[in-house]
Amino acid sequence: MPAGKRLILMGPPGGGKGTQAKRLQERFGIVQLSTGDMLRAAVIAKTDVGMKAKAIMDAGKLVSDELIIAMIEQRIDSADCNNGFILDGFPRTVPQAKALDGLLVSKGIALDKVIEVTVPDAMLIERITGRFTCKKCGEGYHDKFKQPGRAGICDVCSGTEFTRRADDNEDTVVARLQAYHAQTAPLMPFYKQRGLLEVIDGNRPMDDVTNDIERVL
Ligand code: ADP
Ligand code: ZN
Repeated sequence: MPAGKRLILMGPPGGGKGTQAKRLQERFGIVQLSTGDMLRAAVIAKTDVGMKAKAIMDAGKLVSDELIIAMIEQRIDSADCNNGFILDGFPRTVPQAKALDGLLVSKGIALDKVIEVTVPDAMLIERITGRFTCKKCGEGYHDKFKQPGRAGICDVCSGTEFTRRADDNEDTVVARLQAYHAQTAPLMPFYKQRGLLEVIDGNRPMDDVTNDIERVL
């Protein structure tokens, strides 16, 4: 893949965007820009943004477009984005997509592809409510689908502390899915019309999904 890829990874909560974005980041040397990760870091650091976002995230609703757009504008200007980036979790609304357009035009750059990873809602609830990560290295696990080889010990770094996201509970998941269908799904026709959209079946083993994504790039 030539340098300078600029991608959007779309898909429902729990659809595997984060995992796939991390793999693309490693494989192609382009940075993952996850608005969810940025917000969670802001919550932990108790910044103004974090204070504003926490209750909204815990309720499974979307943080204001204004705040998100400001966050992305700042991040995309960093030098490490020059070689390309994968937007993970942004844009999530039509106003965010329009703001992104304006931003890219002002920088004289264009999107290469928009990848939508699809997974049925019924699968997502099970995926999300069972997932947890290693506190030290961030490796992802799942109660049913991917326990560490030795109970309580991370396969990657031997860490023994794990964490679950505050919004990965059943009530919040339902709200997040609703927000996705109502506010984010309408972006697919927007990108399809421009010939940028690639739809990938995300209801398969992660490696198969990765292979398909790499094939369309
Ligand atoms: P997921 O895709 O699994 O829901 P994310 O980590 O992408 O997880 O997002 C977690 C939460 O952060 C969302 O439910 C929402 O409250 C907030 N958030 C993340 N990105 C955006 C965005 N682009 N616009 C509005 N809210 C966002
Ligand atoms: Zn670990």
